[in-house]
Amino acid sequence: MENTNRKENSGNIFKKAADYVGRDVKCQNESKKLIVVIRLLLISVIIYFTINVILCIPEWNLTVILFYCVFFAVFACLFAVSYNYRSMVTLWVFNVGMIIWICSIVHLFGWNIGVQHFIMVLLILYFFSSYKQYTGKILYAAFLCVLRIMLFYIYHYNEPLIPLSTAKENMLQIINTITIFLCMSIIAFIFSRDSQELESKLVDYNAQLEKQANTDMLTGLYNRRKALEYLESLTAKKKPQGKDYLGFSLCICDIDFFKKVNDNYGHDAGDKVLKGIAGIFREEMKEKTFAARWGGEEFLLLFPGCNGDNAYMELEKIRRKIKEMKVKTEKEDIGVTMTFGLTEYDFNSDLDLAIKEADKKLYLGKEQGRDRIIY
Ligand code: GH3
Ligand code: MG
Ligand code: MG
Repeated sequence: MENTNRKENSGNIFKKAADYVGRDVKCQNESKKLIVVIRLLLISVIIYFTINVILCIPEWNLTVILFYCVFFAVFACLFAVSYNYRSMVTLWVFNVGMIIWICSIVHLFGWNIGVQHFIMVLLILYFFSSYKQYTGKILYAAFLCVLRIMLFYIYHYNEPLIPLSTAKENMLQIINTITIFLCMSIIAFIFSRDSQELESKLVDYNAQLEKQANTDMLTGLYNRRKALEYLESLTAKKKPQGKDYLGFSLCICDIDFFKKVNDNYGHDAGDKVLKGIAGIFREEMKEKTFAARWGGEEFLLLFPGCNGDNAYMELEKIRRKIKEMKVKTEKEDIGVTMTFGLTEYDFNSDLDLAIKEADKKLYLGKEQGRDRIIY
């Protein structure tokens, strides 16, 4: 029990700390991301200063420790004022503070502890901190590059003001490397997370839009637009070689006396019939076959790689299922029949002619008494 309470308390403390660091900026037109990154960098640098001082107290004199304390205080104040000022102000004070600190530390302890690599942190932070402002970014990058080269020439070969033992140099080098990697990771993680999330949202949204553009809202089948696109993709294929039949069968079908359903049972009942028929197409048609709502109560069915005889057998099953289907309405359960016009398309024929032929066969079926397949 006590254990659970303790866990809950530590969970609460973490949540409160995360909320505090993640609190939004006061200016409404500023992104929260930047200020959160700067706050996390400030926390990392403050912890880093503390570790440095603890580890080096025995070797450092009072002035150096005081120097670290001043920067500790400046960055702690900057953290506090980050809640009240514009992010860009905090960003620039952080940059100027870090540059002064980097130069001073290289001056004090020399080139070998690797503190100059903090310049890279400033560079990527500035590049991520704003959109556009390309000239500013290039100029700042050039400035940081020149600064690094200057520091190299001035301090690489000269004795530092406070020479450190090799062991201490190595230790500081490792601490600096870890802190620099941590800072870079914070910047990259926070700025890339949003763009990746946004990108995946856009991909989902596009897929959703594409689905909507291709789907008939009432039946959930493909619409005429998608049917035409699919027909185009089928006919655009090269003339197939070999013995497999790679043409397709094409069928246009229409509900018999559908107007009467609407007139006698209402439009909603008519919609239910359309949905019921679409459901049968989905259940009965094999994976490769394609069903679309071609017009009001007309559908287009395509059987790729299937000759007319095989398509006929498939359609016969569908025709019977539709005839057996009962749709509940307010008055009574109703049934409908459908008439089908079926034709084959091979790579020598004209697609428009094939569609017209299927249409003709459909109307022939209507004339002959409906509820049949004409092939
Ligand atoms: P036939 O056997 O000759 O095809 O006769 P029919 O009554 O089915 O043909 P007609 O073209 O005269 O009527 C088609 C009807 O389909 C008219 C229209 O109101 C109805 N319809 C078209 N789209 C929809 C729809 O989305 N929902 C409903 N409920 N009815 C629709
Ligand atoms: Mg009809
Ligand atoms: Mg019709």
